[in-house]
This record gives sequence, C-alpha cells and structure tokens, in this order.
Amino acid sequence: MANANVRVRFCPSPTGNPHVGLVRTALFNWAFARHTGGTMVLRIEDTDAARDSEESYEQLLDSLRWLGLDWDEGPEVGGPHAPYRQSQRMDLYADVAGRLLAAGHAYHCYCTAEELEVRREAARAAGRPSGYDGQCRDLTAEQRAAYEEQGRSSIVRFRMPDESITFTDLVRGELTFTPENVPDYGIVRANGAPLYTLVNPVDDALMGITHVLRGEDLLSSTPRQIALYKALIELGVAKEVPSFGHLPYVMGEGNKKLSKRDPQSSLNLYRERGFLPEGLLNYLSLLGWSFSADQDVFSVAELVEKFDIADVNANPARFDLKKAEAINADHIRRIDVAAFAEACEPWLRAPYANWAPEQFDRAAWEAIAPYAQTRLTVLSDITANVDFLFLAEPVEDEASWTKAMKPGAAELLTTAREKLAAADWSSADSLKEAVLAAGEVHGLKLGKAQAPVRVAVTGRTVGLPLFESLEILGRERTLARIDAALAKLAAAA
Ligand code: GLU
Ligand code: ZN
Repeated sequence: MANANVRVRFCPSPTGNPHVGLVRTALFNWAFARHTGGTMVLRIEDTDAARDSEESYEQLLDSLRWLGLDWDEGPEVGGPHAPYRQSQRMDLYADVAGRLLAAGHAYHCYCTAEELEVRREAARAAGRPSGYDGQCRDLTAEQRAAYEEQGRSSIVRFRMPDESITFTDLVRGELTFTPENVPDYGIVRANGAPLYTLVNPVDDALMGITHVLRGEDLLSSTPRQIALYKALIELGVAKEVPSFGHLPYVMGEGNKKLSKRDPQSSLNLYRERGFLPEGLLNYLSLLGWSFSADQDVFSVAELVEKFDIADVNANPARFDLKKAEAINADHIRRIDVAAFAEACEPWLRAPYANWAPEQFDRAAWEAIAPYAQTRLTVLSDITANVDFLFLAEPVEDEASWTKAMKPGAAELLTTAREKLAAADWSSADSLKEAVLAAGEVHGLKLGKAQAPVRVAVTGRTVGLPLFESLEILGRERTLARIDAALAKLAAAA
C-alpha cells in the first residue's frame, strides 16, 4: 500500500531507559512509514521536567540509531514543524488552550483535590460512574469571581460532548465509548503547565499526523483525543481526525504484562548481550505481527516490504526470550564473516575481555571467527569462547576441571601429548587422529578422550570445535598447557 501521505510519529517521553515495548512501538511506526513511503516523525514529549532527563533523551536517540530506525523529521534532522521537543513548544500549547477556552470547548474547574475525592467516593458508593461530575461546566461569571475571591486556583478542563464516540481502530476494529465513561478531563494544570492530554493531540494535529500507532495502554485516551481533535478542526488547528491503531500488550514471565521495570524489558540488556540490531528488530516485529505462516526469520528490508498495520493482531503477544535468541542466532549466521568479526569487536576488549590489548592476536581471531559465527547465540558469548587464544594461561573453571579430570585423565593426557607432539600441525584432522588414537590406547571414545584435552587447553568443558582451536593456538602452547595440567594432576595426587 504505497501512500506518500502517511505521516506517523514516535513520541517517547525521555524517562528512564528505553524498553522493548517502546521499541516495538517505534518499529511498527517506522515499518509502516517505510512500507508506505510516508514520513516518520520523531517527537520528544518532554513536558514533565520532574521526570524527563537529558540522559534519557540521548539514550533514546542512540538506541534508535543503533537499531537503524531513522526519522525524517525530528530532533537533529529538523523539519517543517520544528521544534520537535515539546519543551520548546510551550507557547503553542498556551495559545491553543486559550482558544479552546474562548470557544467554550474548555472551562476552568475550581474543584480542589479533596472535594473531587469526596464526590468520587459518594458516586462510587451510589454505584454511579466516578469520573469528573461536571460541576464547573457552566459556572456563571459571578460564581467564577466568587471562587477567585476565595483564592482558589483552577485547572483547565476539556468539555466532552454528551454523545458516544465511535471509531474504527486499525487493529481492533470498531470501538464505541459512551459519555459516562469519558468524563471531562484536565488539559492544563493550575500552574499553567499543559498536560499530555493536550500537547499530544495538539502536536499530532499541528504536525499533520495521519496514523497514530501506539500501545494498547493508551486506548482510553483515544475518545478524548478524538473529541479534542474535532474542537481543533473547528478552530482551524487540525484538518482531520487521524486513524488510530493500538498495538497489543506484551506479556512477560508468568503471563503478566511486561513492565518497564522487568529487567527482561530493558533494551540495553539486549544490546550488551550482543543481539544484532536486525535480529532484535526481527524478533520485536513478531510481537503482534507475523511475517508468514512458515517463516519467522527475515531481514529488515523484507519486514518493510511486508509490514502493514492492518495485519497486526489484537491479542496480547508473549515475550519469549528463547525465541528471541534463536532468531538472533539465525541473523548471526546470515551476515558475512567480516561483518561478524567486526560486530564482535566490543566484546574483544575491556571491560568484557580480561586480556590486555597487546595480548590480542588478530590473525588468530580471524582464523577462529568462522567457527564462532556458526555457534553463537549472542555476540557477548564470544569472549569466553576465544579467551584461551589470548590469555597466557587458560581460565581455571573449577567445575570443568572436576568434571573432566577423572581418574585416568593423567594417563590419557600423557598419551595424547605424545601423539599430538608427533602430529601434523597444519591439519586439524591430524590433531583429531592423534587424540582419537590416544583414546584407543585407554579404551576411550573420542568424546571422552577429548574432554581432558579441552579442559587442559581452554579451561572449560564446552567451547568451539576443539581440533581447529588447537591448530590455531599452535603446537608449543598446546603442549605447554597439557604439561601444566599434568603437573597440576601430579601435585594433587
Ligand atoms: N509520550 C507518550 C508516551 O510515551 C506518547 C503516547 C502516544 O503515543 O500517544 O506514553
Ligand atoms: Zn470543578
């Protein structure tokens, strides 16, 4: 569906760390914009000075860039509706609030928090809807003057129409909200600060947004925004009400809604564990959407080609870490080996790596990289898989040692050392033959025979293919490590 008129927005508030729910929203907006040939707007909803931070703002932009989710209008790139940070647009909101008041679409409400609470309780007790009861809707000039006289402050409330609001959600179909469920609501605080309820639809209107795609948690604000939109159209601020599509909830462990506070939901976690951006985007796109019945691994280009908001499913999506990892593993296999080697770089240095920069051996790394590429699930696993190449001595993994160095291990190692010393070191096959032959001497199959060799040389029971690893490490170092292990076994005996 090519439609260059499509204008979508991603409009995060810069609070805390980016989480997967937020990124899923960004992704669906971006994919829809790219699929249709429309425009992606990035707007920063930073009207809450107490919660917003510059650090979160930087992190957001950095995360989007890392994922490759670019924007056509917004911070740093500018655009016809700049500025794109709401903290720089306060005059606009004050102006619109003034016009809504003047036209009677909004009014001053003088009720105190305590008064509202008392009336809410009474309504609840009587089984009536407990939202705002409209007490200040039609105050006369005298009543207002009297309240002002008493020194009461007022908020600005939007006057909801006394009729049902129906709209067709792009994901959920037709929805109707009755007036008793959508009471008049505040749009400006007593101190003059405009609220999300005002600034979000006002900016959507001013920026010509055609499709609002966002999380289901915001569904209850949609009838309010539609009513506000209609008032804005009357005032000439908006042209038409956008379409809305509410993306399904994401469920975490135990079928509970994945919350921002769940460690699993932090984007940084996936980045630090070494998800590829393409792998993560692939997985996140499956939270409420599917590529096809028989394919769930695809490139970003394929996603863009296929993505349509009409295909998003309304049912809650389940966040499945195992599946995310499996998909990431597939993406690791898909890139070429040079790209893989480069993507691993951060984990080949401090703070992840515990070898000194001068111990790093690029030739050895390039030789081992192809074996690692077909085995890793996340890039951060690379560090432990190759450290035996760069550290002076293998790591001492106690559990591995205990498991592999059973009685008979010293004898096996002694024979293996002899055979390896005589082997052809330009061929991993010849090294395998050597260990196989050593096993035969002691009545051990290859699997059992290679375990003590692996632990002696790499420190661990699991790792990359052993004989290629030995070949890359080289004859001298391999034999020296077997000698060291034999000495350690002898000392313990
Ligand atoms: N700033 C709002 C949020 O992050 C945006 C909601 C919306 O998309 O309308 O929740
Ligand atoms: Zn009131």
